[in-house]
Amino acid sequence: MSQLVQGYEVVIGFETHAQLSTHSKIFSRASVAFGAEPNTQACAVDMALPGTLPVMNVGAVERAIEFGLAVNAHIAERSIFARKNYFYPDLPKGYQISQFEIPVVQGGEVTFYLEEGKETVRKTVRLERAHLEEDAGKSLHEDFIGQSGIDLNRAGTPLLEIVTQPDMRSSAEAVAYAKELHKIVTWVGICDGNMQEGSFRCDANVSVRKPGQPLGTRREIKNLNSFKFMQQAIDYEVRWQIDQLEDGHSIQQATVLFDPDTGETRAMRTKEDAADYRYFPDPDLPPLVIGRDWVERVKGEMAELPRVMAERFTRDYALPEYDATQLTQSKAVAAYFEATAKACDQAKLASNWIMGEVSRRLNASELAIEQAPVSAAQLAALIGRISDNTISNNAARQVFEGLWNGEGDVDALIEAKGLKQMNDTGELEKIIDEVLAAHPKNVDEFKAGNAKALNGLVGPIMKASKGKANPAQVNALLMKKLGA
Ligand code: ADP
Ligand code: MG
Repeated sequence: MSQLVQGYEVVIGFETHAQLSTHSKIFSRASVAFGAEPNTQACAVDMALPGTLPVMNVGAVERAIEFGLAVNAHIAERSIFARKNYFYPDLPKGYQISQFEIPVVQGGEVTFYLEEGKETVRKTVRLERAHLEEDAGKSLHEDFIGQSGIDLNRAGTPLLEIVTQPDMRSSAEAVAYAKELHKIVTWVGICDGNMQEGSFRCDANVSVRKPGQPLGTRREIKNLNSFKFMQQAIDYEVRWQIDQLEDGHSIQQATVLFDPDTGETRAMRTKEDAADYRYFPDPDLPPLVIGRDWVERVKGEMAELPRVMAERFTRDYALPEYDATQLTQSKAVAAYFEATAKACDQAKLASNWIMGEVSRRLNASELAIEQAPVSAAQLAALIGRISDNTISNNAARQVFEGLWNGEGDVDALIEAKGLKQMNDTGELEKIIDEVLAAHPKNVDEFKAGNAKALNGLVGPIMKASKGKANPAQVNALLMKKLGA
């Protein structure tokens, strides 16, 4: 069940705009490249000059199909483009072309893992729909000349708006959903995922209610373009709504903006309802018809999906589901894992090292796995030396450090740092005999049934071996000598 905040249940639904990775716009041939001079990438169609007509970009449709397949949704055989009417300076047509009653992608779901206290829980968020639409232009407020201008470069940029059911119950869950969705669209390659440039932006609809009550009135936080702000904005909004209700006020449906500087949300406008947009089918565009053969072809050309790959990892490498999901967070991480596991034939150890030491070091130095100074082959060699008992786990961490800093290869580092485990039983037995002779009290106590007395023996043995004794071997030999 969901955690309550001051006795209230939090309810969140997301609308995400993913910019599709086509080269040209959704209804024109103008480029969508980021960062060009204002209005250099707006053609007659984007400027809504009289007499121009939109022409559907097949690449955008194909990406919508790929998304639908990736989230197990239904791809509509026939969907409709509609005009969403509103007046705004950056919208020269006076309407945005979108899909309303019949979207191209219907249903589907996104599943992810989330830490709740000490547990890892699996969540599924149901999608309501994903529809194709065009982006608007943008207003530029040029303070230095005291004027505003309009840049239509972004007008007509292809977007897929992905809408969830109100299934999320905390800000942590909402962020985990957004990260998973981000992973899916970048993995499939339909969106570059660049949040700073606005290629992936989320609107969070937030409401609160007492458990068992009907859904509360929502406020929609617009354009969240970082996971950090997303969490802050939702947490602030939840506290604000609860304060309002506790003070006896009601919540008005509204669109709000999050200000990262103050950490607060602020009402932008009261929310329009669908009726305010006077949607109607766009007479300039025929229905979008997608034959099943097209869907099958796209399916055949798609790379293995993250959840399918994760399933394969649990099957072929006998990994726990959690490991498999973590290792399929990006194609690069998955490739690094597979290369390591194949080279050392120790999949679980490879997984532990990648989710542990490797990702810790990557995070600390803000590197992507493609930039890791330790290659999969080197990591595999290191794991090989642990499993053939040449070095202990502790020593392996020192070798890893050396590898990371480019001090040499695995065997050279083991040699240089003198980390080889003592695998010569004769030498180890000699040390054990000496330690036993020097600690008769511990020996007697152990024989009298005090298992803890063993610690007083293992410590000096490891010390005498300069840390090179294999702990498992020490244990086995000690037990034999103590007759246990
Ligand atoms: P609109 O088209 O006006 O934005 P929708 O009904 O399509 O409204 O819902 C938009 C988003 O708001 C969806 O993600 C939905 O899950 C979410 N939502 C709807 N009602 C609530 C609510 N009471 N609390 C939180 N989220 C909600
Ligand atoms: Mg909305």
